[in-house]
Amino acid sequence: DDDSFQDHRPRLLIMGLRRSGKSSIRRVVFHKLPANETLYLRSTQRLEKDNITSFVNFQVWDFPGQEFPFNPVFDVQEIFGEYGALIFVIDAQDDYGEALARLHEIMIHAYRINSELAFEVFIHKVDALSDDYKLDTQRNIHQRTMDALSDAELEIEPRFHLTSIYDHSIFEAFSKVIQKLIPQLPTLENLLNSLCATSGIDKAFLFDVNSKIYIATDRAPVDMQTYEICSDMIDVIMDVSEIYRPVNEDAQNIGGAAGAAESTNSSVMMDRADDTAATIQLTNGVVLALKGVNRFLALVCILRAENYGKHGLLEYNFQCFKQAIAEVFEVKRMSTERLKQENLR
Ligand code: GDP
Repeated sequence: DDDSFQDHRPRLLIMGLRRSGKSSIRRVVFHKLPANETLYLRSTQRLEKDNITSFVNFQVWDFPGQEFPFNPVFDVQEIFGEYGALIFVIDAQDDYGEALARLHEIMIHAYRINSELAFEVFIHKVDALSDDYKLDTQRNIHQRTMDALSDAELEIEPRFHLTSIYDHSIFEAFSKVIQKLIPQLPTLENLLNSLCATSGIDKAFLFDVNSKIYIATDRAPVDMQTYEICSDMIDVIMDVSEIYRPVNEDAQNIGGAAGAAESTNSSVMMDRADDTAATIQLTNGVVLALKGVNRFLALVCILRAENYGKHGLLEYNFQCFKQAIAEVFEVKRMSTERLKQENLR
């Protein structure tokens, strides 16, 4: 039963040439490896599948650089047939001609198999590049890709993200990738907008706690610094709650949802997250508030101290928000169940 559920999870495929940074990305985002320790990682040697235990149930398939996925040992139908996104990693510090050729080839093949697949290009390792050079590189990669696609007469609209594991840009990029795969996104955004409007919140993020990917935010623009503060807050709270949490309790909690837990060691879970709440007041009169929404999700918001002072209002609005979120995903779960039953018939 679990297996059939997992088969319906949106799938993230990570591809790219050898040494482009695929394993590092996977380890940093999903296994909490500090970025500087990726220097000692062995490059991807084989197809690696990861079932990530978090709210967004996705799989990361890491293809070794030299292996062309259309090699007959791979079942292309299986690889590209599912709902999901293909992330192609390009090392921007290197000569990327070969990587582009590979990207174009893969997109054209994959599109024939599944025209619904989202194509996301990570222009990676941009930490060492100047701002000008970054933009030039992005423009160049974009242009050459669009040319190749129009030569092939395909109407694919890949998205391009500048990424690095040394800052939050890699998390930001994953957030965008995941958001595109969440059908309830507009509803979540509306809920966040009204929560912010009614409670005097300046910015709110709904985070997947394990990966620190945010799955939705309100309509106020995202600036990197705010995002960083909010995601750092999750780390702080997790570290503290780790100390207080009885060992092993979580291992049991995870059980059902993730048969594949053996492959991850990153499944830090908010214990009884429903009740988790924390606030940090910064010296400039700004308050950071974290509230657990469910086992996987937490709301992190920024507001001014005087608005936080109206705590009763905030608490009330938050409870309404939490209830609404539960309903949104309950509907989804039920329709997935129904789909499954229909497939069985
Ligand atoms: P893979 O073969 O695609 O899995 O590539 P790896 O993950 O093994 O990465 C190859 C090298 O790139 C490693 O030495 C990493 O430390 C380095 N690397 C990965 N991501 C970044 C990044 O964002 N910036 C920089 N400067 N180096 C990176």
